Amino acid sequence: MVDSQYYLPNDIGISALDCREAFKLLSPKEQMYAHYLSRAAWYGGLVVLIQTSPESANIYVLLQKIFRAQSPQQLEAVATAAGLSAEEYQAFLVYAAGLYANMGNYKSFGDTKFVPNLPKEKFKALVWESQAFKQSPSDMEALWGCCCEPLYSLEDKQKQLGLGEKGITAYFSGNCCLEDAEFAQKFLDSKNLSAYNTRLFKTEIDGKRCYEVRLASAEKDNCAVKGKSEVCFGKYDFEDAVFSVKRGDYAFLMEKVCQNLEKAMTYAANENQKKMLEEYIRSFKCGSVGAHKEGSRYWIKDKGPIVESYIGFIESYRDPFGSRGEFEGFVAVVNKAMSARFAQLVSSAEVLLPELPWPTAFEKDLFLKPDFTSLDVLTFAGSGIPAGINIPNYDDIRQTEGFKNVSLGNVLAVAYATQKDKLTFLEENDKDLYIKWKGPSFEVQVGLHELLGHGSGKLFVQDDKGKFNFDQAAVRNPETGELISSWYKGSETWDSKFSTIASSYEECRAECVGLYLCLNKQVLSIFGHEGEDAEEVVYVNWLNMVRAGLLGLEFYTPESKSWRQAHMQARFVILRVLLEAGEGLVGLKECTGADGRPDAVITLDRSKIHTVGKTAIQRFLCKLQVHKSTADVEGGRALYEGYSAVTADGTYNFLRLRETILLRKEARKMFVQANTYVKDDAVELVEYEGSAAGLIQSFIERFQDDAEEVETQLLEMTCMDSSCWC
Ligand code: ZN
Repeated sequence: MVDSQYYLPNDIGISALDCREAFKLLSPKEQMYAHYLSRAAWYGGLVVLIQTSPESANIYVLLQKIFRAQSPQQLEAVATAAGLSAEEYQAFLVYAAGLYANMGNYKSFGDTKFVPNLPKEKFKALVWESQAFKQSPSDMEALWGCCCEPLYSLEDKQKQLGLGEKGITAYFSGNCCLEDAEFAQKFLDSKNLSAYNTRLFKTEIDGKRCYEVRLASAEKDNCAVKGKSEVCFGKYDFEDAVFSVKRGDYAFLMEKVCQNLEKAMTYAANENQKKMLEEYIRSFKCGSVGAHKEGSRYWIKDKGPIVESYIGFIESYRDPFGSRGEFEGFVAVVNKAMSARFAQLVSSAEVLLPELPWPTAFEKDLFLKPDFTSLDVLTFAGSGIPAGINIPNYDDIRQTEGFKNVSLGNVLAVAYATQKDKLTFLEENDKDLYIKWKGPSFEVQVGLHELLGHGSGKLFVQDDKGKFNFDQAAVRNPETGELISSWYKGSETWDSKFSTIASSYEECRAECVGLYLCLNKQVLSIFGHEGEDAEEVVYVNWLNMVRAGLLGLEFYTPESKSWRQAHMQARFVILRVLLEAGEGLVGLKECTGADGRPDAVITLDRSKIHTVGKTAIQRFLCKLQVHKSTADVEGGRALYEGYSAVTADGTYNFLRLRETILLRKEARKMFVQANTYVKDDAVELVEYEGSAAGLIQSFIERFQDDAEEVETQLLEMTCMDSSCWC
């Protein structure tokens, strides 16, 4: 039996990434811009196959050929004829979906390999029975021959990504080890070459070490590039070795990326976008990271665009040496309807802020809207989709020119709204309500959290000249009634004073503002919720918070008694506060699940939210604000760390509950993304169902026009690599 960590479970969560509302509200020009950027992203995303493992591209082509000839539905009968059980066929579909979603046969989170959860003979039988095989048996047999071995192999070295003996990588030829990586880095540094868009291949000629540095570019020739090219090609003697710097890695895909970026330029919204694309094109044409940096500079200047994007060799987690970037491309769009609701919330700040449970003196003199953008992802090509982005990664640009921080709304929403059978720790009827109202209540909570949460509350400051921003003789601590005796002095800030707990404490304050203000009818009305529906939104928002507090235990490490995630710690703290409120507001029981293993159920008495619940949050929120406003680190720490403590000796055994949470933790979800097509000068959005079959179908239809060519080119690209490995 294969260790379950090395295959994807048949019931793995697969959800459609919904961006219909946001996309429909774009102007035709914005839709065109988004479409061509998406096309560029999807072609570029295929690079990840080649970056991940030597066999990924072969497996991808094998699957594409099978499914282009027969849809997952049509193939089902074939599978039965080939002797596969329903479970085995499902395992085959899940494997294919996993390969597409991760753009390779290693998980994008955790970097471990996954293999099909059905016997190799069954997989082979299905290939042989398929229509694709009947159409071209020799091609399919050759393809199977290329990848059947590594597809299933779980030798120690194969189990994870890594360099040398430690694992598999395609950023380096198989004969490279850490020493080669370090040596090459020295060479690259000496030539002022960035490793971001490169791979390294080693050979030995007459006993001499020869390294080939391959730069990703559409152009293959090594002629000098016109203009401000900083890339040096050619052969160099370096210490006792020879380096040759060559262009043209993934040339076919880079060319496709450039063609689509060029088309997108026609529909750009402003000069910054145009220049940004121009530089990206130069980067992908010539293999210049410098040009990509230039593009990123324009990208930062393009503030708050309706269609946001980023594309290139970005994150370096998966290069075992940590300096080569994995390709990614995304297109995300402003949800204009949601933005309008958020804008209304901001314009109501004047009447809503006084509702918060602290004295007027503790509120800012002037409300400033926090810098917050929520976008819906239309396209995210690469190995996986994050819930937020904080780029560029170029340190020199981040320091001097800044970066963008964006929350990806529809990704976050999917991460919470699960299928009913995956909804842990809730009672049956709560599960139905949760699924129905999670989306709307999540939007209310996000809006309140980001805008009125992080945007509210004043810090009392005495500046360098001794001037106070508050009336020392009048502002009193609402709890003790005494004049306040502490404040921020000179250059002291919230982060510098509260250091280690600052971020989680602040997230907790913002979450509490969300819980507290969602009880307000005016707020609910801004989001379009009235009457009974509004009450459901409130109930599910609070229910989600207490459940999230429980799930948060996953991010606590008992050994070091520390929390690893600010938001999850904040939610656990809130759960503790609400449990402490008593009177049956929150119920938390440990039990045994239907499977005989430990389980837990959390409940919320909806009749007590507006009374017991509201009072508890009101008091706690006020304390949080007073400690924050008055720079009272000691008091703030005692309060926050007290509630953050994960203990086994109180009314609840949180350490044991943590074990249960880990036991029932859901596997990371996969996302099904839409496709866009241009038809009669308009862009059409085609969506797919959230299932393995839907995910597969989306990839089959993604490269409709040039599928054959893409596949042939992918095979050629990996073939070229393996000739080097021999
Ligand atoms: Zn926050």
